[in-house]
Amino acid sequence: MVTNRTFTMIKPDAVAQGHIGAILEKINAAGFKIVAMKYTQLSQRDAEAFYAVHAARPFFGELVAFMTRGPIVAAVLEKDNAVADFRTLIGATNPAEAAEGTLRKLFATSVGENAVHGSDSDANAAIEAAFHFSGREIF
Ligand code: GDP
Repeated sequence: MVTNRTFTMIKPDAVAQGHIGAILEKINAAGFKIVAMKYTQLSQRDAEAFYAVHAARPFFGELVAFMTRGPIVAAVLEKDNAVADFRTLIGATNPAEAAEGTLRKLFATSVGENAVHGSDSDANAAIEAAFHFSGREIF
């Protein structure tokens, strides 16, 4: 994957609360183009693999339970400086610390249930996109 792309998920909390449309609108308004997207649900195995880097963290069980509890929207987004700009758009991990107007400030309820995922590096964006999409599903 080229470096002007990032990977996102609208997490089960935001999907369940009916925020898909509002979040996609803000993503588009911020200049991101959607180049892949699907409505899906993570299995236990999927979530454990996706978040394997956090396996030793005390909140890992909670994170896997949360991310598997309902459907998500997974997408690949394109924009110059996509990874960093999308991290700015989503805001801090903890919505209490997220800047005004960020997606987590607007839609998240807690540090765990924080509405939106955004890749933290170009390398992880490529790995995460490939986890969810085949080459022919990304445009
Ligand atoms: P991110 O890059 O901002 O998503 O944050 P991290 O990579 O540090 O954590 C990954 C995800 O794990 C977060 O987005 C949260 O959903 C979850 N998480 C992080 N810290 C905590 C915590 O203290 N408790 C719980 N329950 N979940 C957490």
